[in-house]
Order: sequence, then structure tokens, then C-alpha cells
Amino acid sequence: MRVVQKYGGSSVATPEKIRVVAERVAKRAKDAQVVVVVSAMGDTTDDLIALAKEINPRPAAREMDKLMASGEQISSALLTMALQNLGCDAISFTGAQAGIITEKVATKARIKKVDTKRLKEELRAGKVVVVAGFQGITDNTIWADITTLGRGGSDTTAVALAAALNSEEEPCICEIFSDVEGVYTADPRIVPDAKKLETISYEEMLEMATEGANIMHNRAVELGWVYDVEILVAHSQKDVPGTIIKKEEKDMELKNPVKGIAHDSDVLKISVCGIPDQIGIAGKIFKALTDKKISVDIIVQNVSVNGKADISFTIAEADEDKALDIINPLAEEMGASSVIVNKDVAKVSIIGSGMETQPGYAANMFQALAEEGINILSITTSEIRITCLIEEGKIKDAVRVLHKTFELEK
Ligand code: ASP
Ligand code: MG
Repeated sequence: MRVVQKYGGSSVATPEKIRVVAERVAKRAKDAQVVVVVSAMGDTTDDLIALAKEINPRPAAREMDKLMASGEQISSALLTMALQNLGCDAISFTGAQAGIITEKVATKARIKKVDTKRLKEELRAGKVVVVAGFQGITDNTIWADITTLGRGGSDTTAVALAAALNSEEEPCICEIFSDVEGVYTADPRIVPDAKKLETISYEEMLEMATEGANIMHNRAVELGWVYDVEILVAHSQKDVPGTIIKKEEKDMELKNPVKGIAHDSDVLKISVCGIPDQIGIAGKIFKALTDKKISVDIIVQNVSVNGKADISFTIAEADEDKALDIINPLAEEMGASSVIVNKDVAKVSIIGSGMETQPGYAANMFQALAEEGINILSITTSEIRITCLIEEGKIKDAVRVLHKTFELEK
């Protein structure tokens, strides 16, 4: 039996916490081959980013990768030392040593393949392998560049390793440990009677993760789905059951079709206004953003009476500088009258596989928000999700009223 365990930054924030994790890992290693993926200690990654910005307000992405990857290298070495101190045979790897080969895209690289040769050798030799999360390398030569997988990317490291190590003879599961007990119907800090879910499907979890539930990296969920890796999300210190992310359950129809409420305040809206209306404008804008790996969400285009168009879309707040570098010159070139940035917005979503086949959820959602005096700025949907963009200050009220409307506390 093989298991990949991942411990988040808050679980390895101090030497004491690293010791606690080491004890749990050592116990698990008695009856399984264990790979441990760690995040950087506490807020290390944020601190490194702040440090870089003190030196250079617009640091080069390649150098950011090298800097940020060091955080996980520290925590993986320290956890390995703690394991060795308990008499547990262990070795630490960088992402590169773990065989994680990525594309050449600094700060947001995707994994191309995992070469598990050395990992398997060490596991078979009876060692616990501690891998620095969130990083890889562009190819398997000494001249390759270090890459990182995007913020929160250690989850992706863990699921990718579990997928690569999984085989018929030696099945591998993935366990994600952090300071949350599992996946809830809504953020329990906002909705005190939110319920912990026993299971959730990959599809639902992907929507939750993408729409702001800060439990797991969405790319990790996607990988789990594609490679069919069951993922347990649980607390790193408490021995209580967590949530299992797995394939859709058959009795879905019997359940409340709305599974959870997600919200995200780290979004901003960019409006490009007064563009002379011509074919291909939206294509031009979104192609340029996609080329820079900026994901665009809610998109609205209006054509005004005098033949000019406004296009608005939302992006992650972290992508603001990169997006404006593209949008400002493009807007000028197209003869747009202005570019307006609004950070005072947030997204709230209702998510659930059962919504696909039953009508009425949109109407209930919009009505509930209206009764709460919350104005909807724009809307997007997928087959299993409805998302509204609203004023950021109203986000907690929105989450609470929707949780109640769809009776998720029951
Ligand atoms: N340390 C990285 C971050 O803070 C990666 C991770 O924690 O998963 O984003
Ligand atoms: Mg915001």
C-alpha cells in the first residue's frame, strides 16, 4: 500500500508542528510506503514575495520561481530531519529530484510528466520520501530551470505523485492535511452551522475550488479526476473524519442538488469602455490574456446606442499588473475611451451536480439575494454552478442567505 500525504504551510509552521507531523508520518510509515509533500512553513511564500518586491517592484518571473521554490526546500529538509530524529528512515527531494518535469512557464507551470524512478527506489528501500511541494524543473538536465506550479501548488504535486505512483499491484491514495477538517457546505467562519461533507464528487469539488473555497488547488482536483485518484481532505492534527473526493455517487437524485456555497473576494473587474464596435475585439482581448496564462471569468459585453462597445470581465486580484500591462496598450490601439478597474467586487456561487437536471435554482438564488438587498452585477453559469458577481462588502450576507435558502444546514 502506498500513500502520498500532503501537509500545508500552517501544519509545518513551527519546529513543534513539524515534530507533530513527523510523528504522524512515522506512524503511517509502519504499514505503508509513504511519500510526504510539504508546503513552505507558515507564510514563507508570502514573505519571500514581499522581500522580492522590496528589491524590485516588478521582479522577473524566472527569479521568482527560484526564490519561491526555496520555501518548500526548507520545510522538506526540516521534516526529514525530524523523521530521522524519531528513528524513521527518510530522505528529502526537491521537485526536480522527485522527477517532476513541467512546461517552461514561470510561476504557473503545468506538470508534463513525473519520472518516479528514484522515488520508487527509495520507497522500496524502506524510506519515507519527503518532497518539496509546488515545484518542478523544465527538463531532466543540469541546465534546466526551476519552475513553480502557481500559488497553492503543493496539492497538485501531491496528487500528481499519487497518480504517477498508482498501479494495479501497488494502489496509491492521496491524503491532503491542513488546518481545515474537510469540505464544508460553506465557509464555517461565515456560516457557523455549515456541515462537513462526507464525500464530494471531483466535478463539484473542482467548481468549489475554482470558485474560491480555499481548501484545495483546483488543478489538483482536476488531476485527481483525470487519473481517478481518491483524495482525502482532513485535519493535520485532529483525528476526525475528513471529506473524500471521488467519483460521482449514483444516488445523486435523492440528495439536495445544491451541495455547497463558494465565495471569492480576491477578484477584480476590468471594464474596457467605449470601444468602436468591430468584429474580433473580444477575441483579441481574451487571446492576449490567455497567452499570458491569465484566467478570465465572468465576461459581459454591451453594445451601446452609438455603436461603441463595453467589455467587462473578472480576473484574480493577483493578476492585476500582468493584465493591465496587456489591456492598457490594447485599449489604446482599439480606440477605447477608458479602462476601469473595480476591486470592490466578489463572487458567490451555488454548486451541485443535481442542479443540471432540475430547474429553478437560478430563480431561487437571484430572489434570495434580492430579498437581502444584494445587487447582482453579472452572472455566469456552468452545468453544475451558478455564480453572481456582487459588491464585496455584501459577500458574507450573500453566503449566509444562500446557505439558508438551500437548507444546507440540514
Ligand atoms: N507555498 C506555496 C504557496 O503558498 C505553495 C503551497 O503552499 O501549496 O502558495
Ligand atoms: Mg475584490
